[in-house]
Amino acid sequence: LKQILIARSAGFCFGVKRAIAIANETASRGSADGASGCGPEIRSLGPLIHNPQAVEELEKKGIRVVESVEEVEGGKVIVRSHGITRSDRAALDAKKVKIIDATCPFVNKAQEHARQLSAEGYAVVVVGDANHPEVKSIISYIEPGVPILTSLAGLREASGVRKVGIVAQTTQSFENLMQFVSVALRHFPEVRVFNTICNATVLRQKESTAVAGKADVMVVLGGYNSANTRRLAEICREINPRTHHVETADELPGGFLEGVSTVGVTAGASTPQWIIEALVARIRGMWAGEEIRVDLYQ
Ligand code: SF4
Repeated sequence: LKQILIARSAGFCFGVKRAIAIANETASRGSADGASGCGPEIRSLGPLIHNPQAVEELEKKGIRVVESVEEVEGGKVIVRSHGITRSDRAALDAKKVKIIDATCPFVNKAQEHARQLSAEGYAVVVVGDANHPEVKSIISYIEPGVPILTSLAGLREASGVRKVGIVAQTTQSFENLMQFVSVALRHFPEVRVFNTICNATVLRQKESTAVAGKADVMVVLGGYNSANTRRLAEICREINPRTHHVETADELPGGFLEGVSTVGVTAGASTPQWIIEALVARIRGMWAGEEIRVDLYQ
């Protein structure tokens, strides 16, 4: 008996599902208005999700990616789940561009906590990758003039700060957040913490490592430019050295099923369901004539 074991939480998270649904609805409304195909009507500010195959599908529906607000002159702009900076929003408003906001509600929450903390006089600690668009958007909501700390060294060296408020990029690990909390407690008399980490990431990582531990070979599906997919591949590889990170099933080497009776499968938050299904179909093809069971791990 051969087994394909798929992590239940593989693929789109709530925020990405919602953003894609909003984009699809905007595209179909656009074509109903007769706008589709008649010019630069619908843009997404940065790729809507970190998956080239899914972005291509969206492009076919008339949603084109722009890298900055300077490239937009009118029409509609879809804000992806990572959110948008306050200044980019203002620039689009000034150009009378219609903003379709698909910011994930969990990211909205982190932005709102950062804004509120800064309004109440807290220096704001943002735990995350300072170059990531989500972190940039969170930081942009901090009131001007308020100290912003994004590194442990910055926390240790901060002077003249008495109270700090901590928020985290939604995809950070709990351990990393705790490191910041522990350093902050040693350095400042008052520390407020908002745990803004999203459970989707933690759950997907937990399930994926459990699947990797049970499988003879592990396949992680998702964009090479997707940070959460790369992280998934990393932690699966620690458990199972036979881990392949690929964008689609076609990229798997021919002999990857050699000596295998259980294949583990997981996928990043931005990997569409059809990519997972195509992998299952490819494995079924390679195992033709065998008895195969497909199970969800939960
Ligand atoms: S990972 Fe969490 S915070 Fe990020 S888009 Fe998905 S649901 Fe929202």
